Amino acid sequence: MNIEQIKQPFTDIFPGDLSDNPMQRNTPKVLFASAKPAGFDGPKLIAFNQTLSEEIGLGPYEEKDLDFLVGNNLPDNVKTYATAYAGHQFGNWAGQLGDGRAILAGEIINKHGKKTEIQWKGAGATPYSRHADGRAVLRSSVREYLMSEAMFHLGVPTTRALSLAFTGEDVVRDIMYSGNPQLEKGAVVVRTAESFLRFGHFELMSAQREYDTLQDLVDFTIDNYYREIKADGIQKYKEFFENICTRTADLMTEWFRVGFVHGVMNTDNMSVLGLTIDYGPYSMMDEYDLNFTPNTTDLPGRRYAFGKQGQISQWNLWQLANSLHPLIKDEKFLEDTLNHYGTYFWKAHDEMLCKKFGFDELRESDEEFFTNWQGLMQELQLDYTLFFNQLEKLNPESDMKSLFENVSYVILSDQRVRKLEDFAKKYEERLLSNTISRETSLLLMKQSNPKFTLRNYLLYECIEEINIGNTEMLEKLTRALENPYEELYPEYSVKRPAAYDDTAGCSTLSCSS
Ligand code: AMP
Ligand code: MG
Repeated sequence: MNIEQIKQPFTDIFPGDLSDNPMQRNTPKVLFASAKPAGFDGPKLIAFNQTLSEEIGLGPYEEKDLDFLVGNNLPDNVKTYATAYAGHQFGNWAGQLGDGRAILAGEIINKHGKKTEIQWKGAGATPYSRHADGRAVLRSSVREYLMSEAMFHLGVPTTRALSLAFTGEDVVRDIMYSGNPQLEKGAVVVRTAESFLRFGHFELMSAQREYDTLQDLVDFTIDNYYREIKADGIQKYKEFFENICTRTADLMTEWFRVGFVHGVMNTDNMSVLGLTIDYGPYSMMDEYDLNFTPNTTDLPGRRYAFGKQGQISQWNLWQLANSLHPLIKDEKFLEDTLNHYGTYFWKAHDEMLCKKFGFDELRESDEEFFTNWQGLMQELQLDYTLFFNQLEKLNPESDMKSLFENVSYVILSDQRVRKLEDFAKKYEERLLSNTISRETSLLLMKQSNPKFTLRNYLLYECIEEINIGNTEMLEKLTRALENPYEELYPEYSVKRPAAYDDTAGCSTLSCSS
């Protein structure tokens, strides 16, 4: 791997704490602090993403590169650091947070000039670890490694994963915060993104009234990642905020399309580039449920439930708007932009649903159709992914019971079958009014509805397997997630087995990682 080409332009530009002091602390007025990976004695590679490595300009993996993948024996050009950010967690201002479990190696530029940041997750404590150890366990590392790649191949904007390795060290974790700490295997993921900048970086500088740094950070973000913005002065900052809103709304629409629930949509987990970032207690949705939240910490208020992700992203954008106010200085503009966000998001969302159903365009009457469909999905506990796969097979002769029997998590009584029949009738009527051919309509459906999604129970089984040294399932899941719009393995395109309905770490997850 071309490790010697990694540089740290971020630390050259922005104020940082270069003391190398590993103590956990507040670092006012700076955007980063130097931080070193802990170093691990017995690392072992579990998975490496060769295609990604080539694509970003790191090149092929050789055995000696394992050291780099866990942060051991770094060359002099890799001057590692952790960034400082703040955030609103579960609706409350949390002050300084920062990379507590992530350490940046820097940035690599590929032959097309594309920049990619590289960081370890779980390689050791930083000044921002806040009484935690900066380590990650195998469980959470496998979940991040596989799901970020699954999202990429689904076509959803996301950070990506380069490698997954055991550290050779055990880590103590109380998985369900129940007073039963256990030893788990430690692991490190190397992840990449065009940038890992979050809403929280802007919030931190603004809260500390470091407006010059705030402005430099915005300029830097625009120059590097929002090149489409050509305006100057305040207009430039207005367009910046508008573009973040658009990217965020588009991201939320994509989450809704594939049935992804993030689980911890705190502002420190919101990418300013509109990427899915920080894979923790997330879940793909099995049975359709707008109130579904996989995160046990979120259960009391269900703030981050599937159906709330549009609203919550808007709330998060309000916080970002407050942070950018010193540069934009125009409350009316910010308010209008945020109000427009809601309209834009719901339109994008409904247009996305149209494609999933194979409709030509969004019509006013579709609103009622969607509301009825949501009611049907909730009541019959229909599997989100499988429902659309079966819908493609629907024809006027279809027997509803046999078509949807294996899609529902409840028994399909005669009364429920009748509800499906009513729905199918309305659906077919709507299809008949399409101005596109049935072929085009089916193509829209096939492009919008994955056949494979990385369900929690599959991840759970895969983690159990890796824990006892078997990586066949990991390899098989990797092939499946790389081709989500095909059915490579029919055994993976089925609903969640009943045995997993109440399994901790499967139906419910904690932030413990
Ligand atoms: P999260 O809710 O996972 O995004 O994390 C919130 C904050 O806690 C971030 O600043 C993380 O870096 C930090 N954090 C979470 N887990 C750990 C850990 N094991 N060690 C150090 N910091 C952590
Ligand atoms: Mg986070």
